[in-house]
Amino acid sequence: MRAGFFPFVEPGFEIDMKCLVCGGSGCRVCKQVGWIEVMPGGTPHPNVLRAAGLDPLLWSGFYINIGLDRLVMMRTGVDDVRLFHSADLRFLSQFK
Ligand SMILES: [Zn+2]
Repeated sequence: MRAGFFPFVEPGFEIDMKCLVCGGSGCRVCKQVGWIEVMPGGTPHPNVLRAAGLDPLLWSGFYINIGLDRLVMMRTGVDDVRLFHSADLRFLSQFK
């Protein structure tokens, strides 16, 4: 888990995991760094709350995005996320 920057979020964080496609040695899935971001999150920036008509001293929020496609890539070794959106039944049928 590390600090992360996203527009409209303060503070933000990112949860990374070792790339299981390459075992951490580096590949095109992890862009040669050996790890991959799987869960970004944070709380809305106070200006976002003000823009929504909310007092940031009274209101807050929290979001987390679970990268299901990336987690499935790590579990199955699929090395191209575009395959999940390809509608190629030969590919998709392996996940019955
Ligand atoms: Zn990798």
